[in-house]
This record gives sequence, structure tokens and C-alpha cells, in this order.
Amino acid sequence: MPPTAAPSFHRFFGRGGLLQQAHPGYEFRPGQVEMAEAVAQALEERRHLLIEAGTGTGKTLAYLLPVLLGQRRVLLSTGTRNLQEQLVAKDVPLLARALGRELRVVSMKGRGNYACKVKIEQMEAQPTLLEREELDHYRRIRAWAAGSVAGDQAELDFLPDNHPLWQRLNARRETCTGGKCPRFDQCFLTLLHQRASEADLVVVNHHLFFADLMLKRQELPGVLPPYDAVVFDEAHELESTAGQYFGVGVSSHQVEDLARDAAATLRQLDCNPAELQPRCERLRIDAQKLFLALGAREGRAPLDRKQEFLDQHADAYDGFMQAAAHLEAGLQALDDKPEEIHNLLRRLAEARAKLAYVLESEEEGVVYWIERRGRGVFLQASPIDVSERLREMLFEATDTVILTSATLAVEGQFDYVRQRLGIQHAREQVVASPFRYAEQALLYLPAHLPPPTAEGYASAAAEEIAAILAASRGRAFVLCTSLAQMRWFHQRLAGRLAFPLLLQGEAPRHVLLERFRATPGAVLFATSSFWQGVDVQGEQFSCVIVDRLPFASPGDPVVAARIAALREQGRNPFAEFQVPEAVLALKQGFGRLIRSSRDRGVVALLDARIRSKGYGQQFLRSLPEYRVTGELAEVEAFFAAGAAEPALSAAPAPDRSAPPAAPAARTRARRSPAASG
Ligand code: SF4
Repeated sequence: MPPTAAPSFHRFFGRGGLLQQAHPGYEFRPGQVEMAEAVAQALEERRHLLIEAGTGTGKTLAYLLPVLLGQRRVLLSTGTRNLQEQLVAKDVPLLARALGRELRVVSMKGRGNYACKVKIEQMEAQPTLLEREELDHYRRIRAWAAGSVAGDQAELDFLPDNHPLWQRLNARRETCTGGKCPRFDQCFLTLLHQRASEADLVVVNHHLFFADLMLKRQELPGVLPPYDAVVFDEAHELESTAGQYFGVGVSSHQVEDLARDAAATLRQLDCNPAELQPRCERLRIDAQKLFLALGAREGRAPLDRKQEFLDQHADAYDGFMQAAAHLEAGLQALDDKPEEIHNLLRRLAEARAKLAYVLESEEEGVVYWIERRGRGVFLQASPIDVSERLREMLFEATDTVILTSATLAVEGQFDYVRQRLGIQHAREQVVASPFRYAEQALLYLPAHLPPPTAEGYASAAAEEIAAILAASRGRAFVLCTSLAQMRWFHQRLAGRLAFPLLLQGEAPRHVLLERFRATPGAVLFATSSFWQGVDVQGEQFSCVIVDRLPFASPGDPVVAARIAALREQGRNPFAEFQVPEAVLALKQGFGRLIRSSRDRGVVALLDARIRSKGYGQQFLRSLPEYRVTGELAEVEAFFAAGAAEPALSAAPAPDRSAPPAAPAARTRARRSPAASG
């Protein structure tokens, strides 16, 4: 519980409490008190906690308050940088106003997000290296950096994401000379670390958290200040992020950057240009040849038959290795090597070692794969199971780890996530959503559709989508489990539907979401990347149509390796991995629709297997307690009622002792998951 001088959680979150006094529109949500108490207790008792907080619980404030009122050094990790920014810009000030005191919360991101003062100065001395358009950007960046406190790229609204100029000016580790840098004391990162060491709370993202964990594992100085408890929000993403950092990866971008950085550094230092510049160019060309020889198609594929590849493309592989060794030898031969040269030598050795590992080793328990995304080729070796390492490096090394998300439990139980993440001892809790789902939402499961594996499914599903959209008057997401299916539905329906249609890929994600919000009746066709982190409130978003149960593709190399590993252990990969994984993914998709107590809408799932297969019940028992119908007429009636009465009246505070509204004829309400532990 909070210290006596601090307000009780009821006094803070309750009706007429500090939060409502500071923000009169703020709705009371009993789940917030429940969650804050659970988090405070875990911090106090030094125990791990798994806590699923249904959509609308207000979980961010519910964990922030006990963390900020407590006495422990807590690190908070969110799924993405956007969430980090949102938390610091929105939730923390709200909490500070309600508490009536200043909160020192510092957000830390990966080094590549911050400007390097030395690089900015060095570029000033060599403006001829810049293209005309870059020169304008550079001048604006220089002016901004002179006045910025944080030096965070997110402050630059004029510079597009992934702009190559930023790559030349950022503070990434590979090009930093650290303590030997002449601007070390004024460096944005040095100042950031100072602020972080004095902060009440440090907020990071999962990527930075695991990058830090791996540095410390190698007995290198970490980047995060010391902590003795961690809260992970969006904890359902931990397994995949951990997998990236526990494995080994090397990309064409990294090797190209290395060749470019080497050429630029040697030019700046004026080091034996006649001999070394051609070696840098050789490295760049040979790297291109090697990645081209890998011949990856867009998407992910297993890196099997590696020996065959090495035999066939010995010239490309050996050529790259020799080019790297040749440059390395040239750098080694330089007298009085400055820190920049040592940096290049480290990076060259690392690139060679990583490529050799991914392309030559055959370690057990590791899956090797390749991915092409746009112009980039990524080679990766990932552990098939991260649970052992997570147990050892996280859950045994830190006595309090709190994991929260709207999607952690399957049928109200945490067995799946515990097993995947290697958590042995943890308290568990499910905090129900405050929304009145049985009134606000309808789940439509058309009984007449063939299963998705049957011939004729796609055409029948397209007809169904058209009928649902006619009833909803657009205002919908059509979420598909594959890009091919998404494009097919879009193409098939484009000429027939009277609504403005948006398609994933035709603009960046945030632009599509803005267009969707601003366009009355819009329909967005998208895939799983829109299943998470999308928050569109209000009438404009009233319907989600999901084509099929979101089983992960067994063609994905990591999924295939996990299935094979479980099978080898004599276990049932379908029941133990594929179904629970898909249940959590579907819960994420459902979470998009009802975002406030005034929202109402329909989720349509066009996959007959949810009714016809035994495992379908597991999905149904895990989803929020919507009313369920198999009749399109009921969907039409739902939307017609909504049109007559555009939005639910402002919701009174949910009364958890009262039962939900009685289900209408031909509908039923399902039980909500029970709290456990
Ligand atoms: S310490 Fe590193 S990142 Fe900071 S200014 Fe110096 S070189 Fe740049």
C-alpha cells in the first residue's frame, strides 16, 4: 500500500477523488483501484505479477500511481517508442496535476534516436558532402540541436522517418568515441543519463530494455540506470522482442553503413586515402553481391540448405570475408590509431563473426532465417525458445517483474504466457473491462459460410463483407490474416462499394489512420499490423470484420521451428502453441473496436471453425462478453438502433455488482474470465 502521506488509491481514483477533481470528465473505473492495489502489493512484497487489464481499465495510471508513490527504483518498459512518448506527454502530466506535485519522469530511447553533437560539427566543416535538399535539412537540424535539451529526433517534424541524413548525424554506438569524445560532457546522451539517474521513474521500450540486458550479459557497461523492479506494459510482445536480442542478426543495411562510415571516417581523418578508400568501396560492392546472392523474396524464409548455398556462392561469401579482412588489415597498419579507427575495427570483426555464425553454424535450439523488407535483407539466428534465458536473466535476476497487457490470459488462465516466458512464481490477476460489452457490442458469426479452407470461401466471404458494410454504412476495418487475402477482398469489392476505401500499404500507417478518422463512412482493408496499438474512438469506427482465426502462418520459419520443437518433445503444438497464440491475437483484434464507454459496434468473424471445431470454444471463452448472433438481420437491427440513437448516452459508472443487460432473443452473453491467484 502507498505510504501514509500519499492518497489511498480510492481517494485518488474514486468518485470525486483527486483525479476527478483535477479532470472533471474523468470516469471512475473500479478496475483501476484493483490494479493499482495489485501493483503496489507486488512492489511491496517483491513478487512477480501477471495482470491482464481489459480494454478501458485505465491501466497506465493504475500502475504509474503505485510506482511513483512507492520507494523502489522502478523501470517502466512499453512496447513502442510511440507509447513511451504518449505516456510521458499525456499520462504523467495528468497524474502530476491530480497529485499536485512535479514528477520527474525521463524517457530513454535507443541511441539512434538522439543527435550526435560531434557529427553535426564535423559535417559543418564538410558541407560539400551534402546534396542540395540535405543541406537545407542539415541547417535546420544544426539550429534545432543548438537549442534542444533532449536532442531527440522525435522533435524534428520536418525530417521524415528513416531519412539517410539522420543516420549520418545520430548518436549510434558504432560511431561514438564515448569518454574520449571532446563533447562528452555536453553530449545529449551524457545529459540524458544524468537526468535519468535523478528521476522518479525512467521509461524505456522493450527493445532498449533487452539491448541493455544483453550488454550487461557481455559485461559491457549498460545504458540504463540501476533498477530493482520492472513494469512491462504491452507484455504480450516480450517473447518476440527478447527473441530478437537473444539471437544474432546482421543486415545489408548494417554492412552498407559500415562501409560508408569507414570511408567517411578515413576521409575525415585523412588516413592513407589512396590505399584505404578503394578497400571501403570493395567492401560495399562485395557486401551487395553477397546479399544479392542470398536471393530472398519479400517476407521471411528459413535459411536451410546453408551448406548448399555456401558451395554455390563461395565466391560471393569468400569475396566479402576477404574484403572485410583486407580493410581490417589496412586499419590495423595505421600508426597511432584514434578511437574512431578502433570502433571501425570492432565493427568489422563483429560483422564477419555474425555473418559466419548465421551462415555456417548449425546450433541446436536455434532457427536461422532470412527476411527481405523493401531494400533490406536481414539474416537472423533466433532461439526457438526464449523461456530459459528469460527465466535466468530476468525473472531470477530481478525480484519484482510486473507484466501487464490487455491480452495475456487464455480462458482467464496464464499458463500459456508463463510457459512461453519462463515465469515460475508469479501472482496472477485479471481485471475486467469496465465496458458494458453485452450492450455495446455484438459478435456476428455467420453460420452459413463455408470454412476458410473450403473452395468458394473467398467469394462467399466477400459477399458477406459487402452485406455487413451495407448495414454498418462503412465505418469499418476489414482485418485479414494475409496480405494476399486483403488485396483480393479489396479488389473484388472496390467497384461495388459506395464507401471510401483505404488499403494498407497505399500510405504510411499513421496517415491511413488519420484519413480513416477524417473520412465519413471509410472502410480500411488491412492485416495484422493494424490489430495492435490502434485507437479510434467514436461512431466513425463501428465495425471490425475479421476474415479468419489468426493462426500464425506455419510457413514462418520461427513458427515452424517452434511447432517442430514441441512435436519433438512429444507435445501437441496445435493445442499448446498455435491455438493460445491465435486466441491472444484475436483478443488484440477485438480490442480495437470498443475504446470508450460510449462506443458501440459489431465484430464479424467470417470463420466457421469457431463454431464447428472443438477449439473454437477456447476462443469464445477468451473473448470479451459480447452478445453473439448468427443472423445478419440482427446486425442490421443493431446498426439501425444505433442510427436512431447515434451514441450511447454518457455511461454511468459501471456497477460491477449489477448483472449485464439480459441477452436479446437468439443471443447469449458469455461469462467473463474469472480472476485467479
Ligand atoms: S559522446 Fe558519442 S554521441 Fe556523444 S557527442 Fe560524442 S561522439 Fe557523439
